[in-house]
Amino acid sequence: MRRMGRANRRGPGKGRGAVAGAWLDVPARGVPDVLEETKGGQMTEPDLFAETTVTVDRSALESAANCPMQMRLKRESPNVAGNAAAIGQEAHDAISRTISDYIEATDGGEIWRAGEVHERLVQHVQNSRPDVQPEACEALKAAAYAIARTIAATDPDNILKFDGGDGDRSGMVAWEPFEGFTVATELDLCRATESKQVLDIDDWKSGWGHWTTSDVARSFQFTTQAVCAFHVFHEVQEINVRVWNLRHGYPLQPVQFYRRRLEQYQARVRAAVDVWTRYDSCDLADVPCWPTVEKCRICDCAARCPAASHDFGADPRDWLRGLIAANAKAEALTEALKGAVAANGGRPIVTPDGDCFGKYGAEKPRETWKVKPAVEP
Ligand code: SF4
Repeated sequence: MRRMGRANRRGPGKGRGAVAGAWLDVPARGVPDVLEETKGGQMTEPDLFAETTVTVDRSALESAANCPMQMRLKRESPNVAGNAAAIGQEAHDAISRTISDYIEATDGGEIWRAGEVHERLVQHVQNSRPDVQPEACEALKAAAYAIARTIAATDPDNILKFDGGDGDRSGMVAWEPFEGFTVATELDLCRATESKQVLDIDDWKSGWGHWTTSDVARSFQFTTQAVCAFHVFHEVQEINVRVWNLRHGYPLQPVQFYRRRLEQYQARVRAAVDVWTRYDSCDLADVPCWPTVEKCRICDCAARCPAASHDFGADPRDWLRGLIAANAKAEALTEALKGAVAANGGRPIVTPDGDCFGKYGAEKPRETWKVKPAVEP
């Protein structure tokens, strides 16, 4: 995230509907109230952002829209994703370098078919960072040939943008919702089609999760990409987003985003900008948590989330939110402890009181991870 200025930001509790100092400033119906304000595609206070020079990337905005506390915790420890992020980066880099090589070779008069592209892709992924190279190769293995076929079937002139591309072919696209405030996101591969009104975007997903077309249609990431791409390519009326579940070896059916719905997409992004702006620079103690089962179970910051340890007051719905965050925190700490046991040569982690965490039951068909109290009941 590039942050080039901090002028004219609202503090916590100064935004509409916010409660100063509230740990759980959960909007009505679980949706940020700013959505109501931006339905017409027009913020009511555009002057709040005047004379700022701020660029925020899509992932920071997405975190803000999910949960302001997640946005702040991620920013303060950006490497929490660990190896998974590094593996994804290496897989993406291998594809980017292959596309660059393909364009250069084809511009130089060579003819590269899928076999040549595949060979180059394998070379690049094998040259990944040594600490994650086996996993990066594994992540690309199933889809490598299908990706190679897609690249080889595309005229280089139709490759408009890609992650790692130079100059006009840079994958970065941006949109300015307000003067001086820019939302930026990167396209993995953006290709022209036979129609000037239709654009194809491919996106590589290297994780173990399985995306569906419904996920794509609802995704904040692709809504933001559509907003930025429509801004850059004025003639385009329709964007086909095709997500590749790399580990499963195939792309999903494309999902369409339409210019006629641009106002709706922009309103969603503006709503996230509003949340980001409200909580970007205030005291951490004033940043609200918005726990839900869906968000907390995949939150990278669950181990450090304060929502699990707050004074929950008298409302049972707040107890439930606290429990959701506490469960997510317990799962995150368990995963971290598994890593600590591995780093400890497989030996359990033991407190001075004798309580332990380790892998027990090797003699049984299924080994289990658990906490063993110092004195077994
Ligand atoms: S665990 Fe839940 S409440 Fe806590 S930061 Fe993550 S998403 Fe927000």
